[in-house]
Amino acid sequence: FLMLIVLANGHAQTKKHMDTKKPIEDRISLLMKEMTLEEKVGQMNQYNGFWDVTGPAPKGGSAELKYEHLRKGLVGSMLTVRGVKEVRAVQKIAVEETRLGIPLIIGFDVIHGYKTLSPIPLAEAASWDLEAIKKSAAIAADEASASGINWTFAPNVDITNDARWGRVMEGAGEDPYLGSKIGYARIKGFQGETIADLAKVNTIAACAKHFAAYGFVEAGLEYNMVDISNSKLYNSVFPPFEATVQAGVRTFMNSFNTLNGVPATGNAFLQRDILKGKWKFDGFVVSDYASIREMIAHGYAKDEADATAKAVIAGSDMDMESYLYVAKLVALVKEGKVKEALIDDAVRRILRVKFELGLFDDPYRYCDEKREKEVVGSKANNDGVLDMAKKSIVLLKNDKGLLPLKKSGQKIALIGALANDKNSPLGSWRIAAEDNTAVSVLEGMQQYKGNQLTFEKGADLLSQKATFLTETVFNTTDKSGFEAAKTAAKNADVVVMVLGEYGFQSGEARSRTDLNLPGIQQELLEEIYKVNPNVVLVLNNGRPLTIPWAAQNVPAIVEAWQLGTQTGNAVAQVLYGDYNPSGKLPISFPRNVGQVPIYYNKYSTGRPIDSDKNVFWSHYMDVEKTPQFPFGYGLSYTSFEYKNLKLNKTAFAKGEKIQVSVDVTNTGNFDGKEVVQLYINDPVASIVRPVKELKGFELTALKKGETKTIQFTLTDESLGFYDNNGKFLVEPGVFNVMVGWNSNDGLTSKFELK
Ligand code: BGC
Repeated sequence: FLMLIVLANGHAQTKKHMDTKKPIEDRISLLMKEMTLEEKVGQMNQYNGFWDVTGPAPKGGSAELKYEHLRKGLVGSMLTVRGVKEVRAVQKIAVEETRLGIPLIIGFDVIHGYKTLSPIPLAEAASWDLEAIKKSAAIAADEASASGINWTFAPNVDITNDARWGRVMEGAGEDPYLGSKIGYARIKGFQGETIADLAKVNTIAACAKHFAAYGFVEAGLEYNMVDISNSKLYNSVFPPFEATVQAGVRTFMNSFNTLNGVPATGNAFLQRDILKGKWKFDGFVVSDYASIREMIAHGYAKDEADATAKAVIAGSDMDMESYLYVAKLVALVKEGKVKEALIDDAVRRILRVKFELGLFDDPYRYCDEKREKEVVGSKANNDGVLDMAKKSIVLLKNDKGLLPLKKSGQKIALIGALANDKNSPLGSWRIAAEDNTAVSVLEGMQQYKGNQLTFEKGADLLSQKATFLTETVFNTTDKSGFEAAKTAAKNADVVVMVLGEYGFQSGEARSRTDLNLPGIQQELLEEIYKVNPNVVLVLNNGRPLTIPWAAQNVPAIVEAWQLGTQTGNAVAQVLYGDYNPSGKLPISFPRNVGQVPIYYNKYSTGRPIDSDKNVFWSHYMDVEKTPQFPFGYGLSYTSFEYKNLKLNKTAFAKGEKIQVSVDVTNTGNFDGKEVVQLYINDPVASIVRPVKELKGFELTALKKGETKTIQFTLTDESLGFYDNNGKFLVEPGVFNVMVGWNSNDGLTSKFELK
């Protein structure tokens, strides 16, 4: 069986790899036999479709070069090409004008939706609702694939303990167990249940990033160095990445940071030993943006050729925008400095994913204008992201029962520039979505017509319009709107204040040293409270904020993050009680920035006051040592009671399953949902273990008065840990168990592992 195809460009080639009856690995081998070294290296080269529209090319690049390379078959992938029309245009060059016609894989940062935006990932994590999170990723995949895209640079599975770091909004928070479950769910949402599902037209390849330890940049400063122990690396950083491999993730992205002195991009331990070795990952690794070139500035490579060789040898398969593989790699192979087998391995990995996506069988399968029109922004997708948005909201305080708001006969003053903002709620990382496309809180609340609603912004958040590329955010000092806002508050029964961060105050390169409400919002809040203390504070933010005054004084606080396109509808439905909030914080909220990093799964100091309660003498002189709101914290309009924590035995042998159960009753006046959380603590170990570690959770719906018995199973996997050599140990001894409603409060028991 041999097909000889003469293409429009006159190049003759065999097309044996097009035989769809052959297994993918055979098809790859057949294709690779046809490829020159230059063409192989071309597959490892990725260019941006974006910068020649918006700004200058990065070092080493130019628009002319990009198109010249594309035509010569020296480009394997493009990123940030948006919409079917643009994708079709570049795909056409790759498929119809190059010698071998190998299709491009088209990558895009589909971080929380494509055009119809779901909540920022940190907010979604607050739902603890894995089915909903999976569905949200599936909606994003559906829209992105309908727009020509077949690969997303998501999920970000970076665990972080530092709210100063702007990218905290992109991950699932501070906990490796929750982060693993969410990472796994997101892969299934983007890619489908099995690798075979990748060939469906509404799924896309996912990318676990940033490998590794990017969330531990020193002082929360973007791109900074990371210096952490191996035990931290294995126990906190790796688990979510490994979970994505188990879910079948097709690609990984490495990270900008150095890890214990070696840039992640040039790190063979990470990419070869752990990822491709221990975890047997058979997809490919893309570098982060120009991170191969950055190894020169890091002081790890002496020049471009050295950086190139070090990246390939360490296992970085595709070069995102360094312009180095295409420039240097062929010569390095010819000089014997890089083995051709490494190139072959990288190319096989890249081609594998292209075959799995069905790109060889129809390179235009994602280029369907009709589908693009139907799917992007559809009613179904908007309903889907609204559902996710409601599930992401966390009720932090409701002392005077101000919430839910009465639906009629009330005068409500809505205050704060963010209440009338259709842009900030979209959050950071939303490249395809148009500006000002969110439903604002004002618009959401206006739909409840039984009350009299007055809006006053009080103060702007910014004195100057900041854009995605603006590095400095300018806070306003203009208080001229305070008086009107105070008058509105004075005349109202309840004041709803929407305060928080500007939409691009978190995200990449948006580190902050101050976690307070930006600008003069705190002053506005205190002024309003003086004239009417019935304040419901709605927070819009991309990271934990420090709100000690509000936590002390304001009777009701709702954490509404940045909830995407349907923000206003979700917030209004929660405020009016049409949706009973059930979110729990996926990250601790500090009292002040000096406490950072503050996280629940810390080690004990040597000076506990009461070791059972994890209370330590070690403290700051000027602030309570606890967080303002702990990990796992969140309230409901109803109340829950926990009783009868039981274990099936008191002592277990290794390998036995430990059954834990608890009865949870809805004791309040609303139907509701509760996230029941199980924590363990191993009080004596060869490497000290955290005071608590989440090892199970269940989101359960309970009608008024209903009781359910919630069951958990612990296994060796739950009880063990990695030592500093990456060895997994399950050590005998007594273990403490807590089942509770946040990481601080619950019922406790213990058992022995023999
Ligand atoms: C980010 C990545 C992103 C890439 C492409 C980089 O600056 O770190 O997360 O996927 O750009 O936009």
